[in-house]
Amino acid sequence: MRKSALASLALVATVICAYAGQKPPSSEKTGQVILRWLGTAGWEISDGTTVILIDPYVSRIFGPQPPGRTPYTQTPEDKRPLYGWDDVARPDPAAIDTHVKRADFVLVTHTHYDHVLDVPQIALKTHAAVVGTESTENVLRAYKVPEEQLITVRGGEDYEFGSFSLKVIPSLHSPLDHKHYFSSETAPEGMKAPLTLRQMHPEGGTLAFLIRFHGHQILAFGGMNYIEREIVGLEPDVVLVGAAASRKEIHDYSGRLMRSLHFPALVLPTHWDNFTAPFGASQQPSIDALQSFLEEIKAVSPKTTVIIPKYFEAIPLGTAGQ
Ligand SMILES: [Zn+2]
Repeated sequence: MRKSALASLALVATVICAYAGQKPPSSEKTGQVILRWLGTAGWEISDGTTVILIDPYVSRIFGPQPPGRTPYTQTPEDKRPLYGWDDVARPDPAAIDTHVKRADFVLVTHTHYDHVLDVPQIALKTHAAVVGTESTENVLRAYKVPEEQLITVRGGEDYEFGSFSLKVIPSLHSPLDHKHYFSSETAPEGMKAPLTLRQMHPEGGTLAFLIRFHGHQILAFGGMNYIEREIVGLEPDVVLVGAAASRKEIHDYSGRLMRSLHFPALVLPTHWDNFTAPFGASQQPSIDALQSFLEEIKAVSPKTTVIIPKYFEAIPLGTAGQ
């Protein structure tokens, strides 16, 4: 397993150069899995046939941001309205049309607006199945996403979908506000759209996802925490690791994670950018802050490759088993 994961990874660097900016190759022949970061905790994972999205959030409204992040200052060209918690949450249909062409599955880690705001519209547009907590599915119900598209999970499920399988892993939310963040709230049944940002922000519990796809095992987190006993013994070759500053509230965050997962071949930092800034804005402060994360991973798992993703850039994984 370990060997093939490393062999796959050896291909990553080469393939990135070869495929960056090109159309994804047809996967039925190659089993080529390609990841794309959508910003925030959002990812597209595709083999060219099946498209799986995780926490897709491309609207990037100028809304409230978590405590502890450097505030984004609006530039004169940035005309986005400022949203407060009691404003009606409005996704950006143009951004969704541009960045989300199709989806078969949408996996949502938790019900916060930077993870779920775009999901009702994406589900209605693509007819994708949405895998999430009851809280998340209640947000979708408010927007009349058909019940047959909703797959409600609580963590612990291990589901077979044919082209991939999905282990749903109980997890924890980032310890925001110097560990004072706590929410036991759940989005209730019976809400009616349009919802306010507050109604789209009750957390509703947090999940992680292990996706087994063409011989790869991709473990996706939507924030900066995990339950060690739920992940120990998993052997993903690719891990999307929450890398923003709140991870520093956690004892030996990167060390315990890398050891529990047997030192995965590839780590892709996620949820580290300032998601209240538009896609075109500089993320330099967040990139600077990310350097300590790279050092943590290198110290504990020197053979792990870390790729800092760029928005929408293809990250092809090597064909498993080569
Ligand atoms: Zn959150």
